[in-house]
Amino acid sequence: NTPLSEADPDVARIIEHEKYRQFAELELIASENFTSQAVMEANGSALTNKYSEGLPGARYYGGNEYIDQLETLCQKRALEVFKLDPKEWGVNVQPYSGSTANFAAFTALIKPFDRLMGLDLPSGGHLTHGYQTDKKKISSSSIYFQSMPYRVGTESGLVDYDRLEENAELYRPQLLICGASAYPRDWDYARMRKIADKHNAYLLCDMAHFAGLVAAGEHESPFNYCDIVTTTTHKTLRGPRAGMIFFRKREGEDKKDSLETRVNQAVFPSCQGGPHNNTIAAIAVAMKQAASPEFVQYAKQVRANTQALAKKLIGYGYRLSSGGSDNHLVLWDLKPQGLTGSKIEKVCELVNITLNKNSVCGDKSAVTPGGVRIGTSALTSRGFKEVDFEKVADLLHSTVEISLELQKEAGSKLLKDFLAVAQKSDKVAELQKKV
Ligand code: PLP
Repeated sequence: NTPLSEADPDVARIIEHEKYRQFAELELIASENFTSQAVMEANGSALTNKYSEGLPGARYYGGNEYIDQLETLCQKRALEVFKLDPKEWGVNVQPYSGSTANFAAFTALIKPFDRLMGLDLPSGGHLTHGYQTDKKKISSSSIYFQSMPYRVGTESGLVDYDRLEENAELYRPQLLICGASAYPRDWDYARMRKIADKHNAYLLCDMAHFAGLVAAGEHESPFNYCDIVTTTTHKTLRGPRAGMIFFRKREGEDKKDSLETRVNQAVFPSCQGGPHNNTIAAIAVAMKQAASPEFVQYAKQVRANTQALAKKLIGYGYRLSSGGSDNHLVLWDLKPQGLTGSKIEKVCELVNITLNKNSVCGDKSAVTPGGVRIGTSALTSRGFKEVDFEKVADLLHSTVEISLELQKEAGSKLLKDFLAVAQKSDKVAELQKKV
């Protein structure tokens, strides 16, 4: 029982450095958050030692009395937090992550080489929603299934539902996916349901990014329209790194062919082995926290902060994809400034602001993203309010002004030349101190 600092000082030191980095930097990555001490304690517990393939009450290993209690509690809380009636919805809390949750859900719903349609990655969709390029099938969701992505309008930045409907007529998908990784607006679930119904397709929502807002009633609930809802648990939900799959139950259905049986079998044994019980314990804790009045306040603040950030950036004359945000993120289009997302990401990194480059509507190529994605959930967890996010906008504005000067100085549009100048810049050093 030697403590980590003695058993492995190298790893202990790296963890301490990372902890300090998280503390010292302005964390604006939209998919990240700071989880609670309680969640981390559960995640780092003795539960990691236990094998429990199967489901509560039906395991392939002995000694699962407490694990059964834990998983049942976690399922109950996951349904409660989204206000779901256990007669109408069930949940599998075993997926190791959002990606595996999605692949297991697809495995449950459709057959190899069946057709799916999800939002294209350059339009804000996630890799696992069928991503492929003209030259290559990238994600297993496009390798094992056939994928025809839909897109956002190049001017509006909004999902082009008309085009999607037209293309669905030709493609006749078996699965339609809504939800995304970099989409700042609400979804028109009713429209998606209508399109899915025309083709007798399943409708799946991957609410990974905005699940915390749904839990708090700050985002329309996909459960009103979808057959299956997948999520990660570590973004706005503020839990450990994992995934969940919610499935609809239908009265009088044949259990053998129900979504419940298909999802549970797809997770184990089709896609995974033993569940990570330490993670399931941490999800259970996070679900309890997400059901609290404090969490509702948190989610409201996340949205208020995003509005404050968006307003200030727009006030500076910047262009946001879709003109604003309904959720926890904005997509900042830097093309009008003649800068790429990569350059702003790098300058931000040099001054201790963490965010990521992102494609924005109207980009000619996904290889050089024209903007950055900024999320407010992590800093809201650290107590940031609207005034703080106005200051964040001021700092981001400074990164653009400095980057424009650096670009001139570099005398080239290449990222490596830009970076060489940025690393030596006094202005960058000054801004870092300010951050
Ligand atoms: N789904 C969406 C919408 C995501 O944004 C992400 C990750 O960012 C995932 C799924 C994948 O989650 P994970 O990284 O846990 O596999």
